[in-house]
Amino acid sequence: MGGELFHNLLKCGFNGPVYPVNPSADYVQSVRAWRSVRGLPGPVDLAIIAVPAEHAVAALEDCGRAGVGAAVVVTAGFKEIGGAGAEREAALVRIAREHDMRVVGPNCLGVLNTHPSVSLNATFAEAFPEPGPVAFLSQSGALGVAVLDRATRLGIGMSSFVSIGNRCDVSGNDLIEYWGQDPDTRVMLLYLESLGNPRHFTRLARNIGRTKPIIALKSGRTVAGSRAAASHTGALAGTDMAVDALFAQAGVIRVSTIEELFDTGMLLATQPLPNGRRVAILTNAGGPGILAADACEQYGLELTELSADTRAALARFLPPEASLKNPVDMIASAGAESYRRAVETLLHDPAVDLLLVIFVPPLMTAAPDVARAIAEGAAGAGKPVASCFMGAHGFRTGLGGEGSSAERIPSYAFPESAAQALSRAATYARWRGFADSPVPGVSLAAPPAAPSRHDQSESGWLSPGETARLLDAYGIRTPRSGVARDADEAASIAAKLGFPVVMKLIARDIVHKSDVGGVVLDRRSEDETRRAFTELCERAKQLGAELDGVLIQEYVKEGIEAVVGVTNDPNFGPLLMFGLGGVYVELLGDVAFRLHPVSEHDVDSMIANVHASKLLEGYRGAPPGDLEALRELLARVNRMVSDHEGLEEMDLNPVKILPPGRGVVVVDARIRWQSRVG
Ligand code: ADP
Ligand code: MG
Repeated sequence: MGGELFHNLLKCGFNGPVYPVNPSADYVQSVRAWRSVRGLPGPVDLAIIAVPAEHAVAALEDCGRAGVGAAVVVTAGFKEIGGAGAEREAALVRIAREHDMRVVGPNCLGVLNTHPSVSLNATFAEAFPEPGPVAFLSQSGALGVAVLDRATRLGIGMSSFVSIGNRCDVSGNDLIEYWGQDPDTRVMLLYLESLGNPRHFTRLARNIGRTKPIIALKSGRTVAGSRAAASHTGALAGTDMAVDALFAQAGVIRVSTIEELFDTGMLLATQPLPNGRRVAILTNAGGPGILAADACEQYGLELTELSADTRAALARFLPPEASLKNPVDMIASAGAESYRRAVETLLHDPAVDLLLVIFVPPLMTAAPDVARAIAEGAAGAGKPVASCFMGAHGFRTGLGGEGSSAERIPSYAFPESAAQALSRAATYARWRGFADSPVPGVSLAAPPAAPSRHDQSESGWLSPGETARLLDAYGIRTPRSGVARDADEAASIAAKLGFPVVMKLIARDIVHKSDVGGVVLDRRSEDETRRAFTELCERAKQLGAELDGVLIQEYVKEGIEAVVGVTNDPNFGPLLMFGLGGVYVELLGDVAFRLHPVSEHDVDSMIANVHASKLLEGYRGAPPGDLEALRELLARVNRMVSDHEGLEEMDLNPVKILPPGRGVVVVDARIRWQSRVG
């Protein structure tokens, strides 16, 4: 491995001295070797450690003492094997901290930087892509080799590549942060198996995605639901949450194959962002044009209607057999010049946001001429163009930007991949339009203190009193209520609140009260209240639950029942949920999740994304809901999560949304705090 790596360093012409270090060799691949790092004649910026695992720790220690700035440990046999390996890895981290060194790896493929002033190929992959705007991060080393090879063959210019391996020190987040500031990087491609620090990742992505697209291939669904199914929010998060939607909210473009990673990367690295989703298709053959049109529609692009001016302009140079409607079919006789003029004309049409150009090679016309013509026609239009030279993938000679891969027009083997890439660019561009939407402001005196340990159950659920205190501190309205210990107290509390009232069992072991007959609605007199109290006590006895009292609540008869929740996802950190459907919410799954913190745009979009939110406008004669108060509630919950990292889970179910102007009332709430806090 070391030999291969050293060979690549020399072959790719690293712009600086390379010192092979080996305790027993006088020279390595004809280069004079050194016995130890400490005897090297000059300062060292980067050490590549490719010695057997049992010597790697000592090697890093040597580097630290010799003042080496950073190291890449390609050697395997660390945390991934557990036991002694994990200890070795901990030692690496300790040494790195001690000597203020950054370490990439261990168990990785290495790093690569194509910048002409660096030209570093410190990987054991042979391929060395040309310089360009794409940065690539791979969590899998094996995949990295294939990726570099493919990128090189497609002609994708790369700024740098890092295989992060076990990421004992340098993490994916560190790299995103670095590439966010790297002037040579315009687009980031990530192959991830897991996210190290999800909260940090989504925050970073949302921030850096405003200027540079981040495209990620990430396997795995969220697992919050299976872990914490005790709340509705948790259960729904595991089953119905669209993971794509969360990535999308963070501005991360999520793809499902490596092919798509490149397809999207090629487009975003080279083309301007579109202003909308209206696409025009230009082709020299009918079949591929139809395929392209279908694919565009499938991916949510809109086949635009060309203006009369555009059609007239096309008619001036296309044969009468050509079809001037979108897709524009110039038929097989179209030569390079027709392509140039048609591309120019179509991009000139204000109703065209994106252009897909298809070329099926007929006998008469040479592909390179057409490629040049497309690039010329597209120059300066400021709109994204994807081409499809049927069967050929990657950047073709002639498609512009001869000197630098950053200005080329990407080519796809088939129209479907081009359509998908264009659609992703449009979605990302739309996200950028909302990226600056602010977090909604909440007026609040001062955040309340976190609950103490004795206000929580074994698993962290807060007592009803503590739950009420927190909601109250955040200005979240709950019904007037009191806790009764006996029937007389129940009756007097009810009389004070005013009838009718609702009565509920309070017992730590009972999670869903109505499931066990622990909720009694609509009691209208002191007598009814006393009787219900006795019934509830008997109910608790039957269940063998220890009764902490009976909650007497004002009966909120009106209102649309909604659920608002918070859950913590291991991949994304805290999520807010909104849903409608009352007791059927889990059955219907009509909910929307958003990453915390939500922006004003997120709040609106999460309400709009719930199908049943039409109910809020008043449906079939039913009164509408107080939308403003609902937004405010979501903003307050959002603020609560911001103030308290310990808040693990929250279920406001149901929230009664009263008619406009009358607010929202949370009639049932459960909050779980991180068990170790407090
Ligand atoms: P749980 O969710 O533990 O079963 P809830 O307190 O949510 O218990 O009560 C069950 C249902 O009873 C609620 O979904 C709601 O429809 C109704 N309900 C509960 N409290 C009130 C109230 N104060 N006013 C009106 N309806 C209520
Ligand atoms: Mg409930």
